[in-house]
Amino acid sequence: MGDARKAGVVGYPVNHSLSPRLHNYWIRQYNINASYEAFPVEPDKLEDFLRKLPESGFAGVNLTIPHKEAAIKFLDEVNDFARWIGAVNTVIVRDGVLIGKNTDAYGFIQNLISGNRQLTGKDVLVMGAGGAARAVCISLLGAQYKVTIANRTKERAEALAASLDNSDIKVIRWDELENSLSETSLLVNTTSLGMKGQQPLELSLDNLPQESVVTDIVYNPLVTPLLAMAAKRGNPVVDGLGMLLYQAQMSFYEWFGIKPEVTNDLREHVLQGLR
Ligand code: NAP
Repeated sequence: MGDARKAGVVGYPVNHSLSPRLHNYWIRQYNINASYEAFPVEPDKLEDFLRKLPESGFAGVNLTIPHKEAAIKFLDEVNDFARWIGAVNTVIVRDGVLIGKNTDAYGFIQNLISGNRQLTGKDVLVMGAGGAARAVCISLLGAQYKVTIANRTKERAEALAASLDNSDIKVIRWDELENSLSETSLLVNTTSLGMKGQQPLELSLDNLPQESVVTDIVYNPLVTPLLAMAAKRGNPVVDGLGMLLYQAQMSFYEWFGIKPEVTNDLREHVLQGLR
């Protein structure tokens, strides 16, 4: 067997990351000679850290906050999709070259599909217009959905919609959200509201048809107040953990050439890291 290959997640801070738990599960399961660690790297040290990856035996790394956008300028190649999203979450070392890709959009749509929830229509209401919303909107538009964005800061939603330049995307004001729910077949939360330590998302779902699907990309807690409220009134729900698992699946494939399985055992193992 050759030398062990390294991989990891690079962020600042990064000690909260579930990625080591997740990738090391697959490394053991598929008996790969590799390791995956969390690397706290300050923003002004990122370029140096990335440049040393080839000589340090890395297959690649994941990038998380605050490096996803900043890393683009330090990489040798960035694929068109990651450029469109404006963020790299996966760096691959190939023949000494650093290649940047983005697997978040894949993670979002794959989680939705794997949740096996039937959508009654094509109208999606996305709450939030931050970094994650961009990947979510791109994946939805790619799957031919019609996207309406509502964000607390409307200008940010308008800038996002304008940059995507697609006739299937429009913006409404945050205070128009509840009235628009009657037209919504999929409601997506991409804001940080509902996350552990943050306020819950205050929203009445009274206008939302009962068969409309509700999904939250926040996964800590797994059942956010939004998902709990939706499930209570009978709406089908999809939690956000799968997005994390599926974006990781594609990163793992890029580094090690194996597309690892996303199973209930893996979910349980990763969830233990949240408890
Ligand atoms: P971000 O770029 O900081 O964006 C935060 C979003 O939340 C913005 O739209 C912001 O609105 C909104 N927001 C914050 N506080 C608010 C409030 N009090 N009222 C209304 N809106 C508020 O963050 P991000 O990177 O997009 O991440 C958002 C969430 O997604 C985080 O919880 C993150 O953990 C989660 N996430 C999950 C996955 C996954 O794999 N499941 C992947 C990526 C991210 P303004 O524009 O008005 O500030």
